[in-house]
Amino acid sequence: MVGECMNAVLDRTDVRLRAAHRTHLGYPYNLLDHSPIPPNLYDNLINNLGDPYVGSRFGSDVYEIERDVIAWLREVWQCHDGDAYWGSIAANGTDANMWALYFAREALPSAVLVHSVEAHHSIPTAARMLQIETMAVPCDASGAISIQALSCRLESLSGRYVIVALTCGTASKGAHDNIADTLHCLEIQGFNRERRFVHVDGALSAMVLPFVKEASFAVRPSFAHEIDSISTCGHKMIGAPMPCGVLVVRRQIVKRLFFEFACRRSTDAGLMGSRNGHAILALWARLKGHGVEGFTADVARCQKGAQLLIRTLRGVGAPCLRNDYALTVVFPEPCERLVRKYQLAVNEGMARAIVMPNVTEDLIQQFGRDYGQWWSDIHEQPDYESRNFTTIRSGF
Ligand SMILES: *Cc1c(COP(=O)(O)O)cnc(C)c1O
Repeated sequence: MVGECMNAVLDRTDVRLRAAHRTHLGYPYNLLDHSPIPPNLYDNLINNLGDPYVGSRFGSDVYEIERDVIAWLREVWQCHDGDAYWGSIAANGTDANMWALYFAREALPSAVLVHSVEAHHSIPTAARMLQIETMAVPCDASGAISIQALSCRLESLSGRYVIVALTCGTASKGAHDNIADTLHCLEIQGFNRERRFVHVDGALSAMVLPFVKEASFAVRPSFAHEIDSISTCGHKMIGAPMPCGVLVVRRQIVKRLFFEFACRRSTDAGLMGSRNGHAILALWARLKGHGVEGFTADVARCQKGAQLLIRTLRGVGAPCLRNDYALTVVFPEPCERLVRKYQLAVNEGMARAIVMPNVTEDLIQQFGRDYGQWWSDIHEQPDYESRNFTTIRSGF
């Protein structure tokens, strides 16, 4: 009886999730309909406890596979000397950002954290937890950090140390902060390598831009830029079926810190507790199995899908925005029914759809028809002109 009830609940959950995923458009999840790892592996506890490069004495680990995941991403992020980098799986993108800022704060204890107003909220939140002083910089119309505003802010911080958190693919507009211009700006303002730490939050696009040949190097998340860390999410472009993240950091940054911990006879950086081994296997299976070719093809198809969505929305007369190479399309927020059906993310009258690899042309067209119907309906309503659409329009 109990078993039957349990199975009914689990079956219902499966049916509900699959149905929701069929019309999902609002969040950057690569919704595969099958696990990348064989089911028998779920019979085992897998726990990578502590530093993946140190390991532990118990046998429930997949450290070697974790190091392989890091090595794969190091290549994509153009680390020319692999040994000069350290990395780890994180609980999610938020956790990876938290770790990056922790390393930064330990390296530069009195630094001010500079980030754009469009940075993910995990950045200012982590700064609060770590008690780092912050300074938010305005963005340009595309949603990328304004280099001019950054320059002014940096001037006001003259003589101090800075941590700069850039975003590769902002959550709200899919904008890419210009890494090369930011570094140039830092140099001009006197923030040389010893006086700065630059983190790139690439939750979505650190697994998108490296596969777009035409994208400018200036925005590419790459250690060929003089940056210190890059993070990404495992459940976004990579397609792991559970939330997870990855962080890669220049080893010299973590070395000193880990040396201190080693002196205290701890094998890791203190808070590196149990880590999800199944997530590591899923990341590894996706990266190795799908490969650079697979992700390149996915990204090309998603870009085409995003273009189709833009054309469809323009076709019905709706204003919309898409940044170069972004998979994110922003448009005026439709009625609640459509927001729920397509699980759109909404913010201040704007909604976004993100064309991930599981989003089919059919789904885009279906959404286009529904949206077009709603758009023409609201324009027929007598009070349409008096409704305040200016905030929406000013965003495009
Ligand atoms: C999704 C996202 C995050 C947070 O990742 P979680 O895995 O949800 O914690 C951070 N930054 C950006 C830009 C994101 O898009």
